[in-house]
Amino acid sequence: MTLSDDAARTYELDRRHVFHSWSAQAHLTPTVLTAAEGCYVWDGEGNRLLDFSSMMVNTNIGHQHPKVVAAIQAQAATMCTVAPHFANDARSEAARLISERTPGELDTIFFTNGGADAVEHAVRMARLHTGRYKVLTRYRSYHGGTETAVNLTGDPRRWPNDHGNAGVVHFFGPFLYRSEFHAHDEAQETERALSHLARTIEMEGPATIAAIVLESVPGTAGIMVPTPEYLRGVRELCDRYGIVFIADEVMSGFGRTGKWFAIQHFDVVPDLLTFAKGVNSGYVPLGGVAISPAIAASFAQRPYPGGLTYSGHPLAAAAAVATITAMHEEGIVDNAFDIGARVLGPGLRDLAARHPSIGEVRGIGVFWAIELVRDRVTREPLAPYGGTSPAMTELVAACRAGGVLPFVNFNRLHVVPPCVISEAEAKEGLAILDQALNVADAHTVD
Ligand code: PLP
Repeated sequence: MTLSDDAARTYELDRRHVFHSWSAQAHLTPTVLTAAEGCYVWDGEGNRLLDFSSMMVNTNIGHQHPKVVAAIQAQAATMCTVAPHFANDARSEAARLISERTPGELDTIFFTNGGADAVEHAVRMARLHTGRYKVLTRYRSYHGGTETAVNLTGDPRRWPNDHGNAGVVHFFGPFLYRSEFHAHDEAQETERALSHLARTIEMEGPATIAAIVLESVPGTAGIMVPTPEYLRGVRELCDRYGIVFIADEVMSGFGRTGKWFAIQHFDVVPDLLTFAKGVNSGYVPLGGVAISPAIAASFAQRPYPGGLTYSGHPLAAAAAVATITAMHEEGIVDNAFDIGARVLGPGLRDLAARHPSIGEVRGIGVFWAIELVRDRVTREPLAPYGGTSPAMTELVAACRAGGVLPFVNFNRLHVVPPCVISEAEAKEGLAILDQALNVADAHTVD
């Protein structure tokens, strides 16, 4: 098949005028997408693809949910925009619905345009609240593309942007499959990762540290679900030293793990929680920070020195209200948990039993990673850290040819469909992966 005339024009104009993220522009061949519905998208050749990526892990409610589309249309007909210093019904209602779902008493919401600026503002709040400057964050993490967020990031996207962002210190979190701590089980990994963090704090000077920023479940870096003891241990260290605990739930929030927020699996309450993506499935850009009473009180008498023209934009806020309401009414968060426990988890473990290229599968809800290896014994990855390989490129092509759009990072393929995915759709995707993985198996030493 070839591109339709419209799709060909889209492609040609894109290549002539559009500058893409994170890419060498001369080597791009972006797929044209022309339509989407539920868990499917259509490309410019008319192929239907099962979206196992949720775009950038953001369409938690699926594509084109009619109630969210209608809410955006209704808001557009009433009031398309409003400056942040006015009060607005869509924004007020979105803040109420979000604060009712956040853990503990994180009841005050600062709205941003997306995830990176949510992280920027959370760090700014923590620094001003504590009067300290340093921020501790994990290797194997992603926190966004803006200056502070990319420097907090623990993956190679930081390297070319690292001009010595003062005060950012990285540490290793728990990741048993590639343990930095020579651990043999989860309990040992947790204990050693916590003592490594405690030592890092002591060596950096506890009284200089404003915040620890962590993804509750690291997403792009590999979906390493921590033990409850790990996050409780981090909470304890923060309490001991007066450090602000920032949970980055930009990717893991709003149903992705089968709870509203991933940290709710572990019974831990952070001081600040960042969100974006699933809050309105990215139908209109939106992010934000949920703020504890103590930190909100810091800015009761002195002004908070930060803001955005579009903070709490009404189209984005109306989309959030409709998204959260529909997710609640339609049991979408429970569906994510159920599909993970009953279909994706067992299905992926079954694939791991049959495909030598799978080193490990791990995840929860609709948030799963397949760790691909050349050699199960040495765990040599199928692509190097920070890079890709012909094997991974062929695997992605085989997924596409079979009808699945995957999310790929280095040597991992992530299974991160919308939270609304049905059992039949999940099984359809698993069957396509089963076929495609034969391509990866051909690159193993087994
Ligand atoms: N934090 C996490 C955990 C993310 O996964 C992302 C994006 O993938 C971000 C922050 C940045 O969000 P945005 O791309 O909306 O700026």
